[in-house]
Amino acid sequence: MLGYDVRVVYPEVAEAVQGQPNIMSSTEPAATETQLSMTDEASPRRKKRGVPEGLWIRCPDCQTAVFRKEAEKRLGVCPECGYHFYVSAHQRIAQVLDEGTFEEWDADLRPTDPLGFADKKSYAERLVAEQQRTGLTDAVITGRGRVRARPVALGVTDSAFIMGSMGSVVGERLTRLVERATAERLPLIIISASGGGARMHEGILSLMQMAKVSAALARYDQAGGLYISVLTNPTMGGVAASFASLGDVVFAEPKALIGFAGPRTIKATIRIELPDGFQTSEFLLKHGYIDRIVPREKLKSEIARTIDYCGM
Ligand SMILES: [Zn+2]
Repeated sequence: MLGYDVRVVYPEVAEAVQGQPNIMSSTEPAATETQLSMTDEASPRRKKRGVPEGLWIRCPDCQTAVFRKEAEKRLGVCPECGYHFYVSAHQRIAQVLDEGTFEEWDADLRPTDPLGFADKKSYAERLVAEQQRTGLTDAVITGRGRVRARPVALGVTDSAFIMGSMGSVVGERLTRLVERATAERLPLIIISASGGGARMHEGILSLMQMAKVSAALARYDQAGGLYISVLTNPTMGGVAASFASLGDVVFAEPKALIGFAGPRTIKATIRIELPDGFQTSEFLLKHGYIDRIVPREKLKSEIARTIDYCGM
């Protein structure tokens, strides 16, 4: 089921350190700059993520100034061009589940710093800073709830927490989610917003989560479960290479960035020009990697319809 080589499971790092012969020795500041500056409070790139503050917001796609309330009314979608803004995991849960039905699971699982990892700052400090900034304990929320009265198990990753990357806690929460969905015969929905792939701060412990979640999904599949994977912007690296790609049905939001390694790494490796729109939802739909592009406003109905169609 998992045919990848452990040495290439860190595309995001490979992206950052291309040109350096050994990607696993990437703890030098220069090597991690590209990835980790995203999580640094001082970084100017920070401001680009999410629906910015203010009464009016500028759509990064069509450049129109959009009335914030109007975008929020449309679940964080630009009313002019349909651009899908970042929304948090909590917002997504509210958008997909019936009001008041969410019951969180495994919220008491907390990340640790097993390797004593440090780049610009120590991983332990980074975790605390990310928790304070996002209000999340790690990059995924899992639990059960109802979608138009249908009981489901739901997991949602949040790209605001260390790029939505998968460390031990994300992997363990997702695995337990899948196992409970198996035991309770619930349809399973995982919404991915993970640009970071496997979290390098936990090294091999992050990498093994890919196999662990995938194995749980295989058992869920053998038990006859229905797994709907929803890919949002961005879904990359070890997340795309494990649970996000294993849905019985794979949906994607319009114009989402979805892939394994970043385009620069691929270009440098295979030395050919990449086609237009490479790694977008639309490109991947055309090439059979995803089943349907579902705009955010339609996601709840589409999930309910799929559950009914599959007789869960
Ligand atoms: Zn727009």
